[in-house]
Amino acid sequence: MRIYFDHAASTPCDPRVVEAMMPYFTNDFGNGDSQHSFGRDTAKAIADARATIAKLINCQPNELYFTASGTESDNWALKGAAFARKNRGNHIIISAIEHHAVLVSAEWLAKQGFKVTLLKPDETGIINVSELEKHIDDQTILVSIMHANNEVGTIQPIKELSKVAHDHGALFHTDCVQSVPYMHIDVKDIGADMITFSAHKFYGPKGVGALYIRNGLKIDKLVSGGGQERSQRGGTSNTPAIVGMAKALEIANEQMEQNNAHIAKLRDHFVDRVLAEIPYVRFNGNRDHRVPSVANFSFEFVEGEGILMLMDLAGVAVSSGSACSSGSLDPSHVLLAMGVPIEVSHGSIRFSFGKNNTMEEVDYAVDKLKDTIARLRQMSPLFNVKTGGTYNV
Ligand code: PLP
Repeated sequence: MRIYFDHAASTPCDPRVVEAMMPYFTNDFGNGDSQHSFGRDTAKAIADARATIAKLINCQPNELYFTASGTESDNWALKGAAFARKNRGNHIIISAIEHHAVLVSAEWLAKQGFKVTLLKPDETGIINVSELEKHIDDQTILVSIMHANNEVGTIQPIKELSKVAHDHGALFHTDCVQSVPYMHIDVKDIGADMITFSAHKFYGPKGVGALYIRNGLKIDKLVSGGGQERSQRGGTSNTPAIVGMAKALEIANEQMEQNNAHIAKLRDHFVDRVLAEIPYVRFNGNRDHRVPSVANFSFEFVEGEGILMLMDLAGVAVSSGSACSSGSLDPSHVLLAMGVPIEVSHGSIRFSFGKNNTMEEVDYAVDKLKDTIARLRQMSPLFNVKTGGTYNV
């Protein structure tokens, strides 16, 4: 048995996406910038993909720039906007629970002389509008707050946050990487100036992202080179991936309601069983404002890495935080910002469900999780002190 509960890290490519991509690896391999028919065919495929995505997210095709990842889009939005606006002010605001692509870009900007403020979420992972209002001032040139958080799944009041930024003359960027699979994104409705996308989170290929930049806004380039992407982002376009991204978004939007209902049912059953059957566990996140896929728990007196490894041996793939920080034993910056005590945060695991998961898989995983936690706690001196060694599940 091999079960995948790590869809916030990446999703399998939908077979229909792979099918749409295939011709662009072999027959239709031309460089979209070439003047001959091979090039023209490729350029048309890219233009069609751009038009498809633009229609789905309610923007103009020329407001969409393809990149190599969500990470690149985030880097571009922050660094490009900061330098383009540096004559107007030097203050940047992000939330403390951003993905590292935003967080580390902001840290880098701080080293270049920008002043960076990190907004704290409440204990459920929501960035309240009042928190932004408290810190924004006439030096603020850019606010970047993610739509849905990758570790706990909370959805931010993005329209309200965007409005506050604009009322103060600042640009607003949002990272929609984790919300796209579960919410119809309408860029006009959100009202952001820049939005980040990444295909591999919605059953598309890895290595392709996009940045929406609203018409009229000029930001500095991040990747210089040829005249691709209307001379704003150099590098030969990754045609198969771009075609795949458009197909994946089409499928995600078509099947969103049914997928969301299925995934939420799995998540709810999982959460109910864990809370009922495993003691000393803390649910991290917000019960009302969240994507359907993520359940994040802190299991007291055990280490997340231990849980992850034993679950992996049992055939269940989960995550002890964001995939990009795995390999590091640092506690999650998201959970710490939400006020989870450091020792509790060490025992945290993110389960993220997907459209191909089943209820049988969920039940199998809970059974294995119960065994895993019991086994680890039996070895935990702290736990034995706390309970007098009477642990039994
Ligand atoms: N932003 C968020 C919220 C993410 O969850 C991720 C990936 O985990 C990224 C950005 C980075 O996207 P990519 O993997 O395409 O670089």
